[in-house]
Amino acid sequence: MKTIPYGRQSISKKDIRGVAEILEGDWITQGPAVARFEEQFAKAVDSRWAVSVSSGTAALHLACLAQGLKPSDEVLVPAMTFVATANSVFYAGARPRLVDIDPETGNISLEDLVKKINRNTRGIIPVHFAGSPVLMDAIRKIAAGKNLFVIEDCCHALGARYQNQPLGSCQFSDLAVFSFHPVKHITTGEGGMITGRDPKYRDLLLRLRNHGITRDSRLFSNGESAGSWYYEQQELGFNYRLTDFQCALGLSQLKRLKQFVARRREIAQYYRKAFSDWPWLTCLDENPRGMSSYHLFVIRLNLDKLRVDRKVIFEALRKRRIGVQVHYIPLYYQPFYRKNLRVKPDDFPGAGCFYESCLSLPIYPDLSLTEQKRVIRILSQLLTRYQNIR
Ligand SMILES: *Cc1c(COP(=O)(O)O)cnc(C)c1O
Repeated sequence: MKTIPYGRQSISKKDIRGVAEILEGDWITQGPAVARFEEQFAKAVDSRWAVSVSSGTAALHLACLAQGLKPSDEVLVPAMTFVATANSVFYAGARPRLVDIDPETGNISLEDLVKKINRNTRGIIPVHFAGSPVLMDAIRKIAAGKNLFVIEDCCHALGARYQNQPLGSCQFSDLAVFSFHPVKHITTGEGGMITGRDPKYRDLLLRLRNHGITRDSRLFSNGESAGSWYYEQQELGFNYRLTDFQCALGLSQLKRLKQFVARRREIAQYYRKAFSDWPWLTCLDENPRGMSSYHLFVIRLNLDKLRVDRKVIFEALRKRRIGVQVHYIPLYYQPFYRKNLRVKPDDFPGAGCFYESCLSLPIYPDLSLTEQKRVIRILSQLLTRYQNIR
């Protein structure tokens, strides 16, 4: 029997046809599908504009770069996230400052966030962990009071809503970033997107993803063009372009987003119902003012009800071909962060206890009911075997 992974892409015949059409045409990189994908994406998340880039990491990098950070500047990031969230602050020449998380939701702790603000703090990068929205009005209030920028890391959260607004609409933030890695809600192989409302950011991001170059004569330093061949490099940018055939895949996937999210939510509700009377684990709290798009389904083992630690359960599930995963190892475990930031694990009790007990179960649109029942059955067998009978 094949391993059931924790996440995977869903590629339809129609998706493949969409890509093939582009490959048979004249443009392979940066053709008309790029602008169409950006337009449709902006529409899907209700933002003014969207700029595509080559990965979610590139999106984070450029979003941070657009803030013009100085080496002494600090940006607040959750202590438990994928490394790329915090790495992007280093890329932009500043320093991330780690904030503890709330173990009930996996999201950044507002209490610790306020404590970590000092005179060097310039911004906040909240992560909507597992697709579950952060309390964005609270974040905005804190940011506005201290004149901080807010970049939402929406890499888990395409299709999620907060106060009935789609995440990425930037009602409560300056910019939002997305990833199209295969385990995320829609995929382009590798790929990413930045959304926002302020047009100034859009022009800058379009340049930054293309070496810092613009061909728009309205943006030229002397206000005019020497000829139609002319371009200006205005700052140091990168080649972070997303290709036309990747955008064709993105366009086709975007049409399926509503179904994808509905299916993920259905799977999540099925798990929640199955686990409702289990003493051995706890599901993450759902934000009552939000709607999760369930990039992940994370449980926390109630270790006081078990005779073994998470590792034993994890390895036993893997042995039975259930592809569980751990999201995430806190950043202060990483040698790079231990070397470059002064962090003490004791400062992050929320992230610490979350990391000890968390486990991500399979969730993706093509997961069948039979497969999901197998996951639940095997998990139940293991937890019964290892339960702590006092
Ligand atoms: C996936 C992910 C990223 C990075 O996206 P890539 O497209 O893989 O570069 C950043 N932040 C979070 C929270 C992610 O899950």
